Amino acid sequence: MKNSRNLANILGFNVDSFTKEEALDFALKNGGHVITINPEMIENAAKDKDFADIISDADLVIPDGIGIEIGLRILGYKIKRIPGIEFGKLLLEKSVDEGKTVALIGAKPFVAEQAVKNLKNEIEGLQIVYSHDGYFNDEDEIIEGLAYSKPDIILVALGSPKQEFFIKKLKPKLPKSVMIGLGGSFDVWAGVVKRAPMIWRKLGLEWLYRTLKEPERFRRIFPTLPLFVVKVFKERLFK
Ligand code: UDP
Repeated sequence: MKNSRNLANILGFNVDSFTKEEALDFALKNGGHVITINPEMIENAAKDKDFADIISDADLVIPDGIGIEIGLRILGYKIKRIPGIEFGKLLLEKSVDEGKTVALIGAKPFVAEQAVKNLKNEIEGLQIVYSHDGYFNDEDEIIEGLAYSKPDIILVALGSPKQEFFIKKLKPKLPKSVMIGLGGSFDVWAGVVKRAPMIWRKLGLEWLYRTLKEPERFRRIFPTLPLFVVKVFKERLFK
């Protein structure tokens, strides 16, 4: 097992070069904020210093998706993508083996409830000590609730960058816990949204599938994605 981080750098942001298994062991052993980075987040962080600082201060940064994997490849790093949703599920499965407790925060009320139900059915022995939907008014109340129940693993699905700012606030209260932002993962676990069929995922086309299913997502990848690729090529030229 690898105990120390070996970081790649893309447009000024760190990405860990762990394999999925190494990243999982590292997160469970060390705790802290795990960022699932994608090109959209890098673009946002370039415009928002506070968000950029959160990414820089993260305890682990995993490349969530083909955009980052390609960007890293252009810069000469061979690091395989680790989809956040898969990493989150593995954390839950491992929590049972290691006797760790978990919490889920995020998604619409009925979605959060259904995700909890499905996960409990699917993962025998899963110990969910706290859960809440992602449409709360009093953030401090949720943070206090979490601090009181002390989960070892906290999955936060509020979308980015909301989930990262939430984790930043929560982290000092539970410095040993693993905390990770997982975007729309609870919608998938609740069965409300389907992931792309395996062949699309293998080909690195999950983003295209999602955009075809939810055309409003187009605004989020365009012009961000092409712009990101151009910037990465520029970075390679001047490296
Ligand atoms: N969400 C939430 N609270 C909010 C805004 C969003 O819980 O105030 C949830 C939303 O219901 C969805 C997830 O956050 O489950 C965001 O999903 P999306 O697919 O947009 O995330 P991405 O992975 O693309 O960042």
